Amino acid sequence: MAHVITRPCCNDGSCVSVCPVNCIHPTPDEPEFLTAEQLYIDPETCIDCGACIDECPVEAIFPDDQLDEKDEPYLQINADYYKDHDVDGGLVPPKKAPPMPADKELHVAIVGAGPAALYAADTLVKKAQVTVDVFDRLPTPHGLVRFGVAPDHAPTKLVERGYLSTANKKNFNYFLNCEVGKDITHDELMERYHAVVYAVGAATDRRLDIPGEELPGSISATEFVAWYNGHPDFVDLDVDLSSERAVVVGNGNVALDVARILVTDPDVLAKTDISEHALAKLRESNINEVVILGRRGIAQGAYTNSEFLALGDVEGVDVIIEPDELTLDPESEAAGDDIDSTIGTKIRLAQEFADRPTTDGNKRIVFRFLSSPLELEGDGKVTSMTVSRNEFADGGSVTRTGETYDIETGLVLRSIGYKGHAEAVPDLPFDDARGVVPNDDGRVLHGDDPMTGVYVTGWIKRGATGGIGRNRLCGEETAEAVIADFIDEKLAEPTASRDEVEKLVVDRGVNLIDLEGWKRIDAAEKAAGRESGRPRVKFTDLAALEAAAESAE
Ligand code: SF4
Repeated sequence: MAHVITRPCCNDGSCVSVCPVNCIHPTPDEPEFLTAEQLYIDPETCIDCGACIDECPVEAIFPDDQLDEKDEPYLQINADYYKDHDVDGGLVPPKKAPPMPADKELHVAIVGAGPAALYAADTLVKKAQVTVDVFDRLPTPHGLVRFGVAPDHAPTKLVERGYLSTANKKNFNYFLNCEVGKDITHDELMERYHAVVYAVGAATDRRLDIPGEELPGSISATEFVAWYNGHPDFVDLDVDLSSERAVVVGNGNVALDVARILVTDPDVLAKTDISEHALAKLRESNINEVVILGRRGIAQGAYTNSEFLALGDVEGVDVIIEPDELTLDPESEAAGDDIDSTIGTKIRLAQEFADRPTTDGNKRIVFRFLSSPLELEGDGKVTSMTVSRNEFADGGSVTRTGETYDIETGLVLRSIGYKGHAEAVPDLPFDDARGVVPNDDGRVLHGDDPMTGVYVTGWIKRGATGGIGRNRLCGEETAEAVIADFIDEKLAEPTASRDEVEKLVVDRGVNLIDLEGWKRIDAAEKAAGRESGRPRVKFTDLAALEAAAESAE
């Protein structure tokens, strides 16, 4: 017997340190940790102690004899990782936290209340001498967990329990509904805190830069995700679901999320926390096919194997991959049985899907590889897309063959990656090419020199890579840099008190929401959900959120 890690794995690595025989890999100190699709348990060395189950924040680990049928492929996926990864059986040494002076207080402001912010806060508030104030312009915390995770991926949202436990610490405070840069300036924060940590994410999607991209019916997957997840800024997004086919450009996990949501039975979505406005519109949707375009081949699919596998569990939906779409690049072809285990699994799963029978009347998710959009056409709105067929060239790249084909569609969602933008951090240096704030382990750099007391974490620090759990290590690294600089007396003493911040912003008309206010919103949304058999009904209107924060619940 062995334990097995399944689809919800968030890669935060919290299970690794509790395993007594070091059989969960890659560990945070192995280079592959930063790129691995998920963590894997070695069935040869697992002793079934169950310690990792208690530690996993998203309930992704099961003993192999308790796996759901749909999770059985993970037996092989976990074992396959160890075919081409030699790992020693040594124990992971526990991290040694540096001692803090007992008689000195450290005050830290964190801008943003998403996963990276809260993982950094979690490390900081473990020190009794540290006070952390977390600012967010929205009335609700948790960033991409609330507005990015697909509504049908409820287990992934279980990470919120850890965030609540952090927020419940007495040296943690929320300043929600308060926008840094508008309601309080960077300089005003710097006067009141030893350190300011920016965790503002990477909110801009990359553009296709093709003719017709601006036509109605062409939107970014980021906007679509924010719309169905009830982000207050995207409630009125114009989403046209009147045609029978949608095209998603890009084949990462977000592309798979939006494709899945477009074809999932609305009665199934009605049991999730999807926004009411999106559910109503999806009930009237005519879309019965979603085409997912990938520029390169099957072996380079940007999705993770677990998300690809999950498409096969959507009731009433066929996943279509024509055999001629399975062409391998020369390098993968030459590798044969020695191919990287993750890529090998990708190819094997695609072949299994290609061999599956289809069912008349089912909706369809169609994968096309070696395909790039050339132009969107339409008179007043998108009606079709011209696509280039690509072929493999030297060095693993692809080139256009000159052959094209057309796809009729009324909805195009671009999902080719994200990038941070300088406007999110107007007071900090910015590397436009990489879409990040230049930094050294989270310390913001001005030229080659660290800016005193200014830090970054999350996607604005390392670029838009890695899922939610990957932010744990990133947040910890930044928090440890803050603590180390404090101990080394590199931080300036504040010239004003952080105790004044609340009055300062309230006097400016900010309807501040604290942890208790967020708990009231949370309770009110869950209560509204219970009436209709849903985990919650998200409030999407700022006035409704503010009213819920002040309610007597
Ligand atoms: Fe490690 Fe125990 Fe989990 Fe097996 S069950 S992976 S031995 S912590």
